[in-house]
This record gives sequence, C-alpha cells and structure tokens, in this order.
Amino acid sequence: MPAVAAIPRPITVTPDSATVVETDLGSLVVTAAGDRITGVSAPGTPVAEAMRMLAAGVPTAAPDGLLAEAARQLRAYARGDRRTFDLPLALPDSSLRPFWDACRRIPCGHTISYGELAAWAERPGQARAAGSAMASNPIAVVIPCHRVVDSTGHLHGYGGGLDAKRALLRLEGVLVDDASGLPGWLAARHPAAAQAVVAVRSTRVYCRAACAAGGRLDLRHRALASFASPAEARAAGYRPCRLCRPDEAHLFPPDAPV
Ligand SMILES: [Zn+2]
Repeated sequence: MPAVAAIPRPITVTPDSATVVETDLGSLVVTAAGDRITGVSAPGTPVAEAMRMLAAGVPTAAPDGLLAEAARQLRAYARGDRRTFDLPLALPDSSLRPFWDACRRIPCGHTISYGELAAWAERPGQARAAGSAMASNPIAVVIPCHRVVDSTGHLHGYGGGLDAKRALLRLEGVLVDDASGLPGWLAARHPAAAQAVVAVRSTRVYCRAACAAGGRLDLRHRALASFASPAEARAAGYRPCRLCRPDEAHLFPPDAPV
C-alpha cells in the first residue's frame, strides 16, 4: 500500500496536437484533437509534467489555427483582458461529464462549493464525485474548476497548487489582493458605493469591510462575494453580521473610510 495518495490525472480525449503557451499565469500546455480543444494544463503545473499528463507522445509545435486562437484567448484572460472563453471543446464520455458541464456555467468572478456544483450538475448529494471531477478536469481554466471551493469558503485543492488557484481567483477579483486589503478590494469593486458590503458565501453573512479587516473573520484567504449595498446582499439571500451591523446607515458616515 503506497503511503502517498495517487495524484489525480486529467481524463482527456486523446489529442493529436499540442503547444505550450506563455501567459502571465505561467506556461500552459494546450492540446487539441481535430477542431476541438482537449486539454489545458492547470497554471502552476510544470510543462514536462503537463505534457506527460495531457499529451504523452504528442510532439509540440508552434500554435496555428485553433491552438493559436486558444493561445490568444488564454493570454488575454491571464492579463485580465478577457473573462469568458469561446472555444470548441472535446470532453471524454465519463460519468464525471455532468460536473464539467455544470462547472462551465460558473461565471467569472464567482465561486461555488462542491455540494453546489453537484446540485448544478443535477447530482445532488454527490459532492465527493464533484471533487473527483474537478481533480480530473482535462481543460483547466476554460472549465473553471478553480471557482469551486470547499463548503467553508476555503480553497481546498488545485492541480497546479493552491498558489495557482489563489492567483486565478485574485485575477478574477474573488480574492482580496494582499496589497489593497479588504477595504481597497471592496472600493475597487464598488467605487461609487459608500455602503458596499463583503459577503461570505458559506456562512451567508455580510459585513462592512471594517469588520472583516478588524480580524474577527479571517476573510483574506477566502473566496468572497460583494454587494453595492446591504439591500442587494439581502436580496441575494445573505443576512447581516450581528457584530458590525452593516444595515445601520449611521455606521457609514459619508466622509469616513469604511
Ligand atoms: Zn461583521
């Protein structure tokens, strides 16, 4: 019995071409079969390992046609200039397929839990299978498995490592940039909203930035949502924090930094 758990492998349609794309997120291996993309390696995965997992035996070449278009879209995404992908994909026949299809519907800048993904895939209760599907996702980034986090809002695993998952979520504005802190993060997302609030998906509670920054909640390493006002947060099904009382307008003096 080996002491180390097996590393999950992508389950991929066999490709006939491959290329390595240099992006702001690092080098990505992209593979195709005919006129469909079959693989994108998770950022953070060394190229040699990505080639072994996605395209063993397939020679790499300079991208043209579909691979060139995929390279263009991935580079733009990694720069923050693009939030969706428009690429034809080929996914293998697998019992995990519904989870990959559901994952493609998670919008850029949002996160859901494995349990929610199972529900989206019409496999309620199969959070574990959802986790297996994300771990064996053959087309990273484009099928955004990085947007699936555990039920407490923590990032859980990622093929390319947690630093890579963090970088992807930061790029999409889901994670707080360490330099700007929570108030800066919130202000950047809602520049004109004095009563913007930060919300934690898992607990369904929203707070003023000052509350979270005060350290009661360790929010900096969690995937978050934000709303322009307490009313918007309530409409989305969140409830106010009882400590910082974000619904009380007098706690938002117009000139004071929140
Ligand atoms: Zn609070």
